[in-house]
Amino acid sequence: MVATLTLLGTLISVNGDPETEIKSDVTVIGGGPSGAAAAYWLAMRGFDVTVVEKKVFPRDKTCGDGLTPRAVVQLEAMGLADFLKTQHRYLGLRTIAFNRSYEIPWPRHPEFPEYGYISRRSILDQAVLSRAQEAGARVFMHHEALSAETGTGGITAVATRNLDSGESVNLVSKFYVLAEGSNARVSRSLGATRDQAKPLGLAIRTYHPTARADEEWVESHLDLRDSSGAVIPGYGWIFPAGDGSANVGFGLLSNRSRWRKLNTTRELQRFVELADRTWTFGEPEFPATGGKLPMGLAISPIAGRNYMMVGDAAASINPFNGEGISYAYETGRLAAGILTQALATGDASMLGAYPEQLRARLALYYAVANAFVRFISEPKLMSAGVWSAMRSPALMAPVVSVMANLLPGSSAAQVERIYRFANTAREKLSQSRWG
Ligand SMILES: Cc1cc2nc3c(=O)[nH]c(=O)nc-3n(C[C@H](O)[C@H](O)[C@H](O)COP(=O)(O)OP(=O)(O)OC[C@H]3O[C@@H](n4cnc5c(N)ncnc54)[C@H](O)[C@@H]3O)c2cc1C
Repeated sequence: MVATLTLLGTLISVNGDPETEIKSDVTVIGGGPSGAAAAYWLAMRGFDVTVVEKKVFPRDKTCGDGLTPRAVVQLEAMGLADFLKTQHRYLGLRTIAFNRSYEIPWPRHPEFPEYGYISRRSILDQAVLSRAQEAGARVFMHHEALSAETGTGGITAVATRNLDSGESVNLVSKFYVLAEGSNARVSRSLGATRDQAKPLGLAIRTYHPTARADEEWVESHLDLRDSSGAVIPGYGWIFPAGDGSANVGFGLLSNRSRWRKLNTTRELQRFVELADRTWTFGEPEFPATGGKLPMGLAISPIAGRNYMMVGDAAASINPFNGEGISYAYETGRLAAGILTQALATGDASMLGAYPEQLRARLALYYAVANAFVRFISEPKLMSAGVWSAMRSPALMAPVVSVMANLLPGSSAAQVERIYRFANTAREKLSQSRWG
């Protein structure tokens, strides 16, 4: 029997029976930003990489489509500077709350550019995965990873199903990168669990036609209230997409279960209705879709003897702002770097460095961000914080730099200390009020 495998829309054949086995150095589960980045960095170093992706690209992925300067650096490093020039460039953030509005340009930074892009994920993800393919990665679309077989050395094979033919394909490799996104079935089956005490994000979005689609500022609304008037810990966004539409959405950052019950579809409709009329929003392109944002490195363990989790599967989203694309590229690249050494030396124990290296890069910053989310989960504190910030324009630029993780090292450490202080103050405040 012949198993048919779809390769970025092209049909190829692999001879064998329904239990076809594909061998490679590294198997990557998921072709989104984290998987595509891992595959690109491994393939361009000459390793044999197989990616399985359950959808057929181009596919929609629920997202705000916002690329910050951090993401731009990663995309440019993968040779996608020309692609980015075809996308909608923006210069910074317009923050709006309590009838005030400030335009805050992306900061000057030694490492990052002073611009970002809005890029529909259907287009962006295909561009990155195609790049991995050009570098030599084998990509099987419409193939779903179902389960991982394990032994003493970690994963021994990943069972996948060809969603066109129903045939089974077994992927056997030395190492595995789990890049499945927020619904990480295989990762969970390997024991990865989320720390419930850490914040979880929820977000929803759709596209509306607008006369202001070419604007060079993305908008963030920080004083959201639900229909009962209660402050919502999160923000609404309007991201002009440069193609006649804007990505309009609403995100909720919280560690409180009560916010998870909020009817986000209804709140998004209210947000659109209350938006400035100059947006001239038309009917949505499709009913809003939502998703979870696993954040703050809340998932563990993220590595085993011969596998690593990257991107949302490792909860790498920044809790300050819900940004996950850049961190997906960064964790995919980090994992590929460690795998490069492990493949070159034949020493699988090197994978033990992955959680450590990830923590070294992000843990302190994310601890502060997690504390920030706890802070804004108190409606009064959230409201008071936004109110004060909106009355201190000089504060807004550094706050945006902190939240987008765009501070140079030394000042980042200073601001982290400030946030730690703020969190301690908040705890003392609640103890004295309720204790
Ligand atoms: C509403 C919303 C708005 C957001 N807005 C932004 C934003 O503006 N900017 C930003 O930076 N981040 C944003 N994020 C976060 C961002 O979308 C994620 O952090 C990012 O997509 C993570 O990339 P990933 O590769 O880890 O996972 P994903 O992008 O989810 O990719 C995972 C891929 O794996 C595939 N897959 C899953 N399971 C299997 C399987 N078993 N077998 C084969 N394939 C599988 C999926 O089909 C998918 O293509 C937003 C998230 C949401 C929900």
